Parts: sequence; structure tokens; C-alpha cells
Amino acid sequence: MYKIGIDLGGTKIEGILLDDSLNVIQRIRVLTPKNDYQGIVNEISYLVDQLSTNLPDFTLGVCTPGTISKKTGLLKNSNTQCLIGKSIKEDLENKLGKKISMENDANCFTLAEATMGAAKDFDLVFGVILGTGVGGGIVINKKLYPGRTNIAGEWGHHTLHHNGNPCYCGKMGCVETYISGPSLENQWKKLTGESKRIPEIIQNITNENGKKWKSEFMENFGYGLANVIDILDPDAIVLGGGLSNIDFLYTEGKESVYNKVFSDLVDTPILKNQLGDSAGVFGACII
Ligand SMILES: [Zn+2]
Repeated sequence: MYKIGIDLGGTKIEGILLDDSLNVIQRIRVLTPKNDYQGIVNEISYLVDQLSTNLPDFTLGVCTPGTISKKTGLLKNSNTQCLIGKSIKEDLENKLGKKISMENDANCFTLAEATMGAAKDFDLVFGVILGTGVGGGIVINKKLYPGRTNIAGEWGHHTLHHNGNPCYCGKMGCVETYISGPSLENQWKKLTGESKRIPEIIQNITNENGKKWKSEFMENFGYGLANVIDILDPDAIVLGGGLSNIDFLYTEGKESVYNKVFSDLVDTPILKNQLGDSAGVFGACII
């Protein structure tokens, strides 16, 4: 059976067609219409039509920013705001006349890396997105574990500091408010008065402010993931998102995690993703 996967991102929508052995047959990208829900639905359906030309049958999965609420069937927790509160799964199914599978980007990322990427040799995989937000997903023996209410793996909103930084979710002190890209950039600004992006910041962190910034980052990263290991004890953790390119996460970051786990033996591999930006679209094919 052919598989079509769609990755709906904030700036682009990517579609891919795979054959039975997961070989790439065709790949198309279009820009995401800005603040235009109907435009997004139309573009996705255009991509599916293009990719499915002359196919006898196929499965279709869509990777979305945000999660379909089990309570309402509507999309929630999305940084592509025009999608919030929309019945995107149902609208696409009606337009395409076909059942689709839909999962959030952290879950698609984890599924792809655990099946065909960096963590393919491990049974229980915890996938981490460290970027604009902080997300996570759990895959057990190549199957996604969404949890009773679809929130399994959402470590980004574990409380790290009681009464800490305010979070858009309504709580305070969430992991995401300390180690997402924007939070780390804010912290740099607080320390130095300068507005800089992460790649610039990490090029020059040997001075006092830089050391402070990095050591806080490593402490928060360490406590956040050590909590995950204490609960889940996964066979591997794989990192994705823009911040996963930071090399010291795999050395000092890993040490910081290990030092905080409740065990005399910690050897959980913390791996860099292999599929990069393509994890979402591959994951969508195999939901
Ligand atoms: Zn939160």
C-alpha cells in the first residue's frame, strides 16, 4: 500500500509519497497560507491530489502543529493560531472523501526517528522537540503511545520551578518557559541587555554572563529530562527541533541529566535526530 504523509508547518506544507518499503517516490512543498484556515485546507487537498494521481489506493496521515482534543475533536495547543478550535481532521476528511490519521509534530517526529531514524534500534523511545516550544512523544516498539487523553510525553509543561516564569498554558514555571528557544533568548537579554538569536549566543559563552546562561540552561535541561527518565526509563532519548543542533547538549547536557536521575546506573543514550526537518512528513506516513 502506498503512503502519503503531509507535514503542516508554520511556514511550509510538505507532502511525500512513499511505497510499501518506505522509499520516497515523490515530494512536494508549498508555502503555508498565512492566517487562512480555508487556504490551508485547500493546499493540503491540492498536495494530496497531486501525490495520489493514478494511485489505486493509499493511506494518508497528517502531521499538525497542535493536538486534536479528545474531548471536542477540535485542534488545540497550536502555534499556527488560525488552526485553533478548527475541526481540521473532519474538514479534510469531508473534502478528500477519505479517512485520515492525524498527530501532532512531536509525536510524528518521535515515530519517524524510532522507526527509520536515530533511535530505530531501540524499543522504548522518548522523542524531544526543543525549538519554539518544548514537546515530546513516546513510541513503544515502533507504535505511538498517545496516552489516555492524547497528552503522553508533554514534558514541556511539567513544572520545573514552582511560581516560576508564566506560561501561555496558564501555569507557572513550565519547562518550556526555561529551555525553549525564545525563553533562552529572553534569559540572555535579561543577563546582557542584548537581543540575540541562539546560534549567535552559543558562539560566545565563555564570559561571565555566558557561563551563567549556559549553566542555568544545563541545570534546567538536566532536571527536565531526569524527571522523564525517572518516570519512563526509556531505552533512548532523541532530540529534535532547532536547539538539537547545540553540541554541548550531548556532552555537558547529558552529564547534567545523568547527575539528577534517581539511580546508581544511568546510561540512557541521548541521540541527535537523523531525519532533520523531514521527520514530520515521514512520521505522518506511518502514524
Ligand atoms: Zn506551560
